[in-house]
Amino acid sequence: MGRRTGNGTRALLTLALAAAVTGCTAGQDAADPADAASRRPHGKGSSGGFVVQYRTGGKAASATAYLRTRRILDKAAERLNDTVQVPHRIPFVVRSCGAAEPAYDPETGTIDFCAEHVDEIRDRFAHAGQGAGRQGDPDAGDAHVAAVLEETAYHESAHALIDRLGLRFTGREEDVADQLAAVLLIGQGRAGETKALAAATDYALAAKETPFDATDLLDEHSLDGQRAANYACYVYGAQPARHEDLVGAGGRVTEDRAEACPDEWEQARSGWQQLLAGHLKRNASRRR
Ligand SMILES: [Zn+2]
Repeated sequence: MGRRTGNGTRALLTLALAAAVTGCTAGQDAADPADAASRRPHGKGSSGGFVVQYRTGGKAASATAYLRTRRILDKAAERLNDTVQVPHRIPFVVRSCGAAEPAYDPETGTIDFCAEHVDEIRDRFAHAGQGAGRQGDPDAGDAHVAAVLEETAYHESAHALIDRLGLRFTGREEDVADQLAAVLLIGQGRAGETKALAAATDYALAAKETPFDATDLLDEHSLDGQRAANYACYVYGAQPARHEDLVGAGGRVTEDRAEACPDEWEQARSGWQQLLAGHLKRNASRRR
C-alpha cells in the first residue's frame, strides 16, 4: 500500500467536493509528550480522526524537525478532519522505518510516515535544483518538497479510509489513492494545483532516476511516469484554461489524453464524493 516509486524506497482529502496507507519497522524512539495537542483530533466531542505523532531523535530527527516546523502533517490532518468524519483514531506516526516505505498498516490502523521518505524527497528536489521549478523558480524547491509530502499524507490516508470505512470500488487501490490525493490538493484552488504539479514533478524525476523494469510491471502501483501524467492530467482537467502549457510537445500531457482529462478529473472528484457519502462533514460538501 506504500507510495512506492521505481527505486523502491518511497512509498506514498479537504475535498473541494462541491466543486472540486504496509507497515514500517518499529522506531526506537518514544513519542514526544509535547505533541499531545497535535494528536488530538480536530473538532469537539470526537474521539476519532487523523492525528500526528512525532518520534524524536535518531534517524528521524531531521525529518521530524522538517515536518514539524512546517506543520505539513498537522495541516493535512486538520484538512482531513474538516472534510471527513472517521469514527476511528488514525495516527500519522513519524519515525524511522529502515528500508520500508510510508504506508497504512491495517493491523495497527496507523500510518507510518517514514523519515527516510522525507529525506528522499528533499534529496531529489535538491539534486533537481531549479529545473524542478515550473519557471525555474529558485524558491520552488522547498515548497515542492512540502507539497509532495502533503500528497504522501493524503495518499496513505486514502488507504486508511478505504480500510476503516469499508469503501468498495473497482480498479486498482493505488490509483484510487492517488485520485484522492489529487482531489484534496486540487480542491485547494491555484495553490493546490501547484502542489499537485509538484507531485507530478516528483514522480517524473523518480521515473528518470530509475527507469522501470519487468518487475515494476507486476507491481500494484502504476509506473512513476504514469502517475506523473495522471496528476498533470487531473490538474489540466480541473482548470484547462489555466494550464494549457501542460499539453502537447514539451508538456506533461499528450494532446490526445488532454481531451479526456476534464472527464478523468470529474470521475476522480465525483467518485470520491460518492465513496465518502455519509462520512463527509457537513461544511465540506459546501466548500468550494
Ligand atoms: Zn499506496
